[in-house]
Parts: sequence; C-alpha cells; structure tokens
Amino acid sequence: MNEKVRCLIIGSGPAGYTAAIYTSRANLAPVLYEGIQPGGQLTTTTEVENFPGYPEGITGTELMEDLKKQAVRFGADVRYGIATAVDFTSYPRKVTIDGEKVIESDTVIIATGASAKYLGLADEAKYAGMGVSACATCDGFFYRKKTVAVVGGGDTACEEAIYLAGLASKVYLIVRKPYLRASKVMQDRAMQNPKIEILFESNAVGLFGENGVEGAHIVKHAGEPNEEKFDIAIDGFFLAIGHKPNTDIFKDQLNLDSVGYILTTPGTPKTCIEGVFAAGDVADPHYRQAITAAGSGCQAAIEAERYLSEKGL
Ligand code: NDP
Repeated sequence: MNEKVRCLIIGSGPAGYTAAIYTSRANLAPVLYEGIQPGGQLTTTTEVENFPGYPEGITGTELMEDLKKQAVRFGADVRYGIATAVDFTSYPRKVTIDGEKVIESDTVIIATGASAKYLGLADEAKYAGMGVSACATCDGFFYRKKTVAVVGGGDTACEEAIYLAGLASKVYLIVRKPYLRASKVMQDRAMQNPKIEILFESNAVGLFGENGVEGAHIVKHAGEPNEEKFDIAIDGFFLAIGHKPNTDIFKDQLNLDSVGYILTTPGTPKTCIEGVFAAGDVADPHYRQAITAAGSGCQAAIEAERYLSEKGL
C-alpha cells in the first residue's frame, strides 16, 4: 500500500534540510529522501567560509551534518532513497522511491540540486575511476605528490586547484578564456600558489595512458593562427566546469528552462503545479550558494505550510 504524508522533501542539501527544519517545526511531519548524494554538493567541497554564523569557516560535511541533526531534532523523517519517478498530474502528488515504493503527498518540495558537468570527451568515460574525477575532495587523496590538471576558471576550479596543490606536487589549471571567472580572492590564491600553473586560452581535447590517465592533449588558441598543440603529463584529470540541474524526472511534469532548471513564479518557490515547490540549485541558475539554497528551502517550507492551511489539509 502507498504511504501518505503531508510534506515530502526530495534532496538533502542546504535547501532540503532547511525545508525540513521549517516544516518539522510547523508540525507537517516531513519525510525527506536524501537522494544520490546525501548532504548534497557541499559534502564534496572543502572549507565553507561564506556561510553566515561560522566566523572560522566549517567543512562542507560538518555543515551538512549539523543541518541534518537540526532537522531530525524537530522530527523530520530523514530516509535513504532516490526519487525515480513523479506523477504530479493527480492529487495527492505521487513520488516513486527507488523504482518501487510510492509516496503520496499533499505537498512536495524539490531540492534535488545540481550535478557536475563533464566536457563530453570519450576519454572521460574511458578513464572514469582511473584518473578522471569531478570531485577533488573525494579523490584528491589518491594524487599525493603526483601531477594533476583541473579544468575550469570559476570559483570551483580555483578552490579545487588550491586544495589539490596541498596534496599534489603540481597542478595545471586549464582555462579556456584568457582570464579567470572566479572571485578576486580565489583568483589571487590560485595565481599566487607556486604549485599551480595556469594554462589560459587552452582546452583539453583528449587523455592518454595505458592503465589510467598519464597525460592530456591540450590545444592552445584553438582555431587561431597561433594555435599550439601539446601534451601535459598528468596522473589525474579533474573537472570543475559547472553543474547541471538534477531535473530529469521532472521534465514531463514541470516547466523547465532551456538548460533544465525548474521555472518558478518569480520571487517564490512555486512551480506550475499547486503544492509542488522547488528550492535551491535545482531552480537557481544565478546564485547557487549554500546560503541562498537554504533561504529558498525556508521559503518553500513556508509556502507548503500556507498551502496546507489554505486547503484545510
Ligand atoms: P562557473 O559556472 O562559475 O564556472 C565554470 C567555469 O568552467 C568557467 O570558467 C567556464 O568557462 C568553464 N567552463 C564551462 N564549460 C566549459 C567547457 N566546456 N570547457 C572548458 N571550460 C568550461 O561554475 P563554478 O562551479 O565554478 O561556480 C558555480 C557558482 O558557485 C558560482 O556562482 C560560484 O561563484 C559559486 N561558488 C562559490 C564558491 C565560494 O564562494 N567559496 C566555491 C565554489 C563555487 P567560461 O568562464 O569561459 O565560461
């Protein structure tokens, strides 16, 4: 038999847990499914220095453990499981967990976040788990005293390059533009780190190696008269080129933008379906910060509570 709840939260990043804290304190007895990556993207970052309330910084994992504890303290029912299908066409809304169990819910808060993007090179798949990674904090340990490359020029790429420089003997930062997009403070840290060599206006076009990554093929100034092709010897290849929203299961049910972000009524977490709300990175192509995700989780919780009370549910 299907289980029926008042508030189902999908996802366990800052948006999901904040929604759980608010909805549990409002006695909605929320059920939260953690998804593929319990704790979300912050569990794959190092130090979080910009979440208000932590003057000395905090690790992403600790921050997420604290948020989870806070949600559980007020009665949120946090469960392992992945939402594999949804049906928002009927009421109550239906969410299938792990392809089997169906949860019926009066309200659904979607906080499924976003996932790392890859370049799309065949070699990324070929060397998956053999030198290719999108998470320096998860895999950096394997590259102590080795040479690695990080692709990307944003805050994530700089952060990962700096983290890896603490372990590896050398880090190439492969940046397609002639400048870094990262914030000034991260740019400075990356540029001043003696172990980091930045290859501007460069693209990785392939990888090579016998039993794992041993190098990357680089093209500098592609398509220009001064185009250069060369190889770099590396043991690890890290992607840090942004993220895509985790919305595959919602694409036939909700309005999404051209990239796949859930479209909400501006300034609110309301989706095109009554009682279904979206919070955090899954609906935010602009800010994508832990604190903005947490804030929108709060908004979604308050909207869910209002919806239930207006409907007398
Ligand atoms: P961004 O979208 O900011 O940056 C992505 C980077 O990858 C850009 O340099 C982009 O190049 C490059 N890129 C994208 N696609 C390709 C490609 N196919 N080939 C080569 N390079 C590519 O993503 P981030 O993950 O860095 O950051 C996301 C958000 O999270 C930002 O708002 C950032 O500020 C924030 N953030 C904040 C942190 C902090 O404050 N501590 C830490 C990490 C992230 P181009 O510039 O040419 O588009």
